[in-house]
Amino acid sequence: MFFSFDGIDGTGKSTQVDLFAQYVRASGHDVLTCRDPGGTLLGERLRDILLHKAEIPLGSRAEMLLYMASRAQLVHEVIKPALKQGSVVICDRFLLANVVYQGHAGGLPVAELWQVGQIATAGIQPDLTFVLDMPVDVAARRITGQLDRMESRGLDYMDRVRRGFLVEAARRDDVVTIDADREIAQIQHQIQTTVEERWPQAFAAQYQEGGG
Ligand code: ADP
Repeated sequence: MFFSFDGIDGTGKSTQVDLFAQYVRASGHDVLTCRDPGGTLLGERLRDILLHKAEIPLGSRAEMLLYMASRAQLVHEVIKPALKQGSVVICDRFLLANVVYQGHAGGLPVAELWQVGQIATAGIQPDLTFVLDMPVDVAARRITGQLDRMESRGLDYMDRVRRGFLVEAARRDDVVTIDADREIAQIQHQIQTTVEERWPQAFAAQYQEGGG
């Protein structure tokens, strides 16, 4: 099974990825966590260019393809083998982020991004994506330290990103929106309840153990 977490920066993705990984492990599964872009030698180099090398000019198409290249290698080297072994894969961002940041917010054609993504991922898509959602100004206040290439695009861009996630979530039943402007434990609980409802065989036993 393959899960991803997405949403604008500061919404609590990495916090919830960690908590969800603990929960999935406690319910008896092997877990592999990763981040996109990144997760491989190539992917981490590309991540550095994409996020931290503002001095390297990147047109929107080159930027999109570097994200795709990082993801292609992540699928090939990490995600596909882990799924084959029966592990539950939990990824911090995936193709949806590319579609939303470079498509909905960045102006590239959304349908074509899904197609390039299909080639990059060999069709491997999360079974479920949690989009953590909150107002962009609230999320921005949670970010400390220097802003990366994406974060420094400003609140208008981030608001287009946020809207893009909501549009995709409304269109797709493999994308669930979570109100992330709440306590960490409340968000965690909703995420767990969602997977328990969708996959009672895989997750309900743990719920009973934890609750009993
Ligand atoms: P992301 O990975 O989406 O950028 P993080 O998980 O790194 O977000 O969280 C950003 C910051 O907000 C961190 O300092 C984290 O501790 C804090 N945080 C995460 N979830 C919540 C929450 N529900 N309420 C308040 N602060 C939170």
